[in-house]
Amino acid sequence: MESLSHLNFLFRGSFLHNPYKYSKEVIAINMFEFEKITESVWAHTKGDTFGHVAFVKLKDRLVFIDSGYYPKVIEEARKKAEELTGLTVKQLLITHHHGDHILGNQVFEDCEIISSKPVLKILSAYWTEDNTENLRKREPESFSELQIVLPNKTFEGEYTITDDNLTLKIKQTNGHSNGSSFIFIPEEEVLIAGDLLFAKEVPYFGDDTADPYLWIEAYKEMIKLSPKIIVPGHGPVSDIEAMQEQLDYMEKCVKWVENFVNKGEKKEDLEKAKDFPILDYEPYDNFELLFNRSKNRTFDVVKEKLT
Ligand SMILES: [Zn+2]
Repeated sequence: MESLSHLNFLFRGSFLHNPYKYSKEVIAINMFEFEKITESVWAHTKGDTFGHVAFVKLKDRLVFIDSGYYPKVIEEARKKAEELTGLTVKQLLITHHHGDHILGNQVFEDCEIISSKPVLKILSAYWTEDNTENLRKREPESFSELQIVLPNKTFEGEYTITDDNLTLKIKQTNGHSNGSSFIFIPEEEVLIAGDLLFAKEVPYFGDDTADPYLWIEAYKEMIKLSPKIIVPGHGPVSDIEAMQEQLDYMEKCVKWVENFVNKGEKKEDLEKAKDFPILDYEPYDNFELLFNRSKNRTFDVVKEKLT
């Protein structure tokens, strides 16, 4: 189970092709690019950071959202953000605990690093010196200098960051994982969803703390906010239509598994079942393994709910 629980933390990052190929020549990453999403929000959704990152420009500072997978790439991202705006990043918001959203935290050591309480709890328990050292050794090109930097401020349920012009409403919904949160900026009708939205992809719902019922509620809550633009954790910048597709899909999966459990079928037979709902998108690396984890986790949650 060691490797599985490891996977749970790194999500799929370590298996994916790294566009920067790590090492020295890499990183004339002057090519790191942000896309301007609204007046105050920029995002990088090309996949170079694995989990997407974004930043919000307030009057006197920047608020960065998630720190991606590779510290070296994130260092360039932070530089670029500060260059673009002439402002300094003072706060980092973490949407959830997966490695492809937090391993760049060390680049923001001088900042306030904010997450929901469960995120800090999960990260503190997992990232022992041993686990950190293992990753340094396993992927030295990217992580030889890895330091795990934990959130230094936590909230429960909701948190707000504001200045004269903008409000960042952070809401913990759980679902994708315990502690998963999204950020909504009502003045610009933009929502930064973290992995609560996989756009145009099959979502990953195989985390040990994933809860498809809570995720369904989270989708509904985000849709209710009527955002015009949504920055997902993976996939292209999107809108409500992409969110609705994921909501419909998750409902389908839950119904399918409820039916499977009600028929008295066994968990071992789940992976063999041919008609488990699927979205017709390009599979990502290690798709089979991750999708099976999603199915199995859904089985566990549904079974517990129904018995
Ligand atoms: Zn995730």
